[in-house]
Amino acid sequence: MRSWSTVATVALVLWLLYRLNPNPAMVETITQLEFYRLLDEGKIRGKVIRYIDRDEGSTYLAGERELDRLDDKGMPVKSPYRVILVPGENEEMMNDLFDRQIDVEVREKRSAISPFVSQLIFFLAFMGLFYWFFARRMGGEGGPFGFGKSRAKMLTGKEDKKKVTFADCAGIDEAKEEVQEIIEFLKKPERFRKLGGRIPKGVLLVGPPGTGKTLLAKAIAGEAQVPFFAISGSDFEEMFVGVGASRMRDMFAEAKKRAPCIVFIDEIDSIGQKRTGAGALGGSHAYEQTLNTMLVEMDGFDANEGVIVIAATNRPDTLDAALLRPGRFDRQVTVELPTLKGRTDILNLHGRKIKFAADADLSRVARGTPGFSGADLANLLNEAALLATRKGLDGVDMATLEEARDKVMWGRERRSAGYSQRERETTAWHEAGHAVLQVLLPNADPLHKVTIIPRGRALGATMALPEKDVLNHTKSFFLDQIVICCGGRIAEEYLTGDISTGAAQDIRQATDIARQMVCTFGMSDKFGFQAFSEPGQFTAAELPPAFSEATSQAIDAEVTRIVETAYAKAKKILDENRSAVEKLAAALLERETMDGSDVRRIMENA
Ligand code: ADP
Ligand code: ZN
Repeated sequence: MRSWSTVATVALVLWLLYRLNPNPAMVETITQLEFYRLLDEGKIRGKVIRYIDRDEGSTYLAGERELDRLDDKGMPVKSPYRVILVPGENEEMMNDLFDRQIDVEVREKRSAISPFVSQLIFFLAFMGLFYWFFARRMGGEGGPFGFGKSRAKMLTGKEDKKKVTFADCAGIDEAKEEVQEIIEFLKKPERFRKLGGRIPKGVLLVGPPGTGKTLLAKAIAGEAQVPFFAISGSDFEEMFVGVGASRMRDMFAEAKKRAPCIVFIDEIDSIGQKRTGAGALGGSHAYEQTLNTMLVEMDGFDANEGVIVIAATNRPDTLDAALLRPGRFDRQVTVELPTLKGRTDILNLHGRKIKFAADADLSRVARGTPGFSGADLANLLNEAALLATRKGLDGVDMATLEEARDKVMWGRERRSAGYSQRERETTAWHEAGHAVLQVLLPNADPLHKVTIIPRGRALGATMALPEKDVLNHTKSFFLDQIVICCGGRIAEEYLTGDISTGAAQDIRQATDIARQMVCTFGMSDKFGFQAFSEPGQFTAAELPPAFSEATSQAIDAEVTRIVETAYAKAKKILDENRSAVEKLAAALLERETMDGSDVRRIMENA
């Protein structure tokens, strides 16, 4: 019985290995440009297969194409190809394929190694399998189908071999400094202990998505030259009750064996959320089990053992308090969105691999991307490189960088999506209203660009270009900002005599700013130097209402007054400059996108 299953297993594994390593000799690698040319000529046959690597995202596309030769039946000869993709984002290209109604099938990446190496691996795997199997039998442990240890091993967190160092993270110098101590400890635990340093068991990295938390954790491991185990809180979402907890235990067991090392838990909020009252009764909620297991594991080892748990979240406020107790994640390191200098550094870092045209100015790109995360910036450069390839440019130029920036910021252009001429006109007037105010108001940032090309959910956009990152806004800036928000609707009304839903976003923004001025920044005449918790910030159970019903009504009245005053001001300015709005709208309809200097020129002549 046993030997029969041996043969079956060996056969199965061999067959799988064979399937994973077909002979790749005949596949021709073509460029993206070539691929697009073939698409245009209709020579890409059948579906396209997109190979995904778990760590790197898309890696290449493959499929069959027609050659210019005919076979003996007079049919075009078909031949396999593949296209290497820029690692990271390729959504633009995928959307293109979708638009062209080409079927794209996604598969896990096959090994891209040469036939010789793959045969070698094949052979070694074969030998290894035999060795493993017979050693097992001698030892008398459970066979390969036993639900014992082998299965648990498969489920442990994966260890990452690629070395990332501090040189790969830019613009987060403060965070790097804060984790320096941990690196010292991991490098020389003995010495660190002698000097009496206290080492945290758990470090919580807090910051918005894409700011480099994962990157930083990897870099800590890389700098200290210790193993790195990673697992994501969201991985547990699909797990059966009990499996998540056992996986957590296995990972810690493995980590302890490999100490000193780093265990990284991404998106810890998805398992570490505040436990609700109801859950306490129900008992075995799957996440709760996983969370408890993690806490037990963390409590169960001494900080000196050298396993450091690093967790990342962008919502520290939702975490269960038990996680933050001493001896658990009692150290927090904030990873902020990059500043202007940080963005410049990140762009320069990721830009090393890219060829630029002479006019490309990354510091200007950095100025135009406030609020972008490191991941957004990396994405912007990838997108720009891709666009430049498709345009057939020798290097990425400034115009392409700006286009990529807009794409990342606004999502994909929706050129064809049912956009009537009437809507275009309304949008042109709407944006002209914003733009004229942006130029005329003394406390607003300079106008960068205005466009009526729809992107994402917005039909158009007016963008400002702050001279530098501002951490501290003034009251007059906020007031002008609200006035600018009002301009869209007022200008629309000039054209149509009616109002539309196009201003919904503006209305929301104006109201938000006004409310924050009153409640958070102490900028209203009525309340002055006072703060009020805003609705929705706390749940009723957590905090008694901070103010009376009468105050609440007064706040609402104050917000209304600010917005109404701003609206009146916007109306007055635009009425006085109506011809400028009109001229600008006409120019926008013709040119779709204009930058600040064009707009100012038109306004001077209006
Ligand atoms: P998070 O874990 O905070 O969501 P990641 O570490 O996963 O962010 O960042 C995703 C990618 O974005 C990184 O692999 C890197 O290419 C880029 N990136 C993000 N932040 C930085 C940074 N500070 N320096 C360099 N690259 C960055
Ligand atoms: Zn608007």
